[in-house]
Amino acid sequence: MISVEEALNNILDFIEVLEVEQKPLLDCLGQVLAEDVYASFDVPPQDNSAMDGYAVRAKSIVGASYERPKVLRVVGEIAAGCVSDLKVEPGTAVRIMTGAFVPRGADVVVPFEDTDEVDRKQASASRAEIGVCVDLPQGANIRRRGEDIAKGALVVRRGKLLHPAEIGVLASLGKKIVSVIRRPVVGILATGNEVLEINQPLLPGKIYNSNSYSLAAQVIRYGGIPKLLGIAPDDVEQLTMAIRHSYDCDILVTSGGVSLGDYDVVKQVLAAEGNISFWTVCMKPGKPLAFGTFTRDDGKKIPHLGLPGNPVSSMITFEVFVRPAILKMMGRDSSAKPNITAVMEDSIMNNDGRRIFARVAVSRRDGKYLARLTGPQGSGILTSMTKANGLAVIPESTQEVKPGADVEVMMFNWDEIQD
Ligand code: AMP
Ligand code: MG
Repeated sequence: MISVEEALNNILDFIEVLEVEQKPLLDCLGQVLAEDVYASFDVPPQDNSAMDGYAVRAKSIVGASYERPKVLRVVGEIAAGCVSDLKVEPGTAVRIMTGAFVPRGADVVVPFEDTDEVDRKQASASRAEIGVCVDLPQGANIRRRGEDIAKGALVVRRGKLLHPAEIGVLASLGKKIVSVIRRPVVGILATGNEVLEINQPLLPGKIYNSNSYSLAAQVIRYGGIPKLLGIAPDDVEQLTMAIRHSYDCDILVTSGGVSLGDYDVVKQVLAAEGNISFWTVCMKPGKPLAFGTFTRDDGKKIPHLGLPGNPVSSMITFEVFVRPAILKMMGRDSSAKPNITAVMEDSIMNNDGRRIFARVAVSRRDGKYLARLTGPQGSGILTSMTKANGLAVIPESTQEVKPGADVEVMMFNWDEIQD
């Protein structure tokens, strides 16, 4: 038996970061930036108003108060998006809207609510003047040119995972096309004479192909592009043909056919088509695992992970082995997954010294995480996964987890920390 780490390191040694592609900005969400992006101009490009109000000189409103407003002459108005050559002289004001560039001469913006504008409106008084009721320091309510991004600055670094905020920042720089590491195409092939496609009538002795769907959904969830290659029967010739259809994929994931049954032919085919190792991994569920590469006619080597057929085992081995491979291909670091510590509310026995991945529902009470088993843990009970939001990882050396003990939990939907 090999350890989970040994198996994972062996796999990751064969996985390479994929090439760079150039795509429209919005299509790059969740991908890793493959270029350093510098600002070719200041953001914002000019000092602009943070409020709707009046642009004035700070000196003109010294000592202003509600009791003794400073009355200024209004010399014009600037809306956002307009270019104006108005100039604010001592004793004058320009009516200004949020986002409009601050006119020359002004060094402060007084919000409408700190003027007597409403009173003037109600009294139908002249709008050629405005009373300012507050004394504000220089720079108040003005967003400075370059305060967000200074021209020439390195704004988003190569290697950064693009979240919605980075997409917005790149848009603020006018970046339409972005270089990112491309997403892997993951071929998914089910095996087994008993497995039927879900659009077929269910026949005696048969079951539906759930694995290809849960695996494809996991591929999508972690950023890959699934390519469903159907179901290959337990027959050397047909399986060989099916595997050849995966030649345009970046990695092939099969389910089933890697244990010790009479019809487990994946081994045989892969031994003929490529280089394959069969591992007994010290984990539960998911003991049998195959990994290897097969070589295309053009010499390109395609990695192949043969997952066990049991629906829970295939999903968990995907989490543990395929997810890090997908992340590595996308230029991401899979080692930064933020596991949590939870208090286990049930007991778990570990009889044969393997690492147990127990399906748990984690909740939070009084500032603590609590984990409960999601019912029977058989590797064919796929509904145990639907009730779970994480996997409690019980070390090989732990023979028993008693209720109240701390356990480490890999949360399904907590992404790797990556800056
Ligand atoms: P195997 O690893 O091929 O021996 O399969 C182990 C168990 O998983 C068997 O009970 C299979 O029927 C089941 N199984 C295999 N492939 C699938 C699949 N694609 N969808 C659902 N169950 C499967
Ligand atoms: Mg089978």
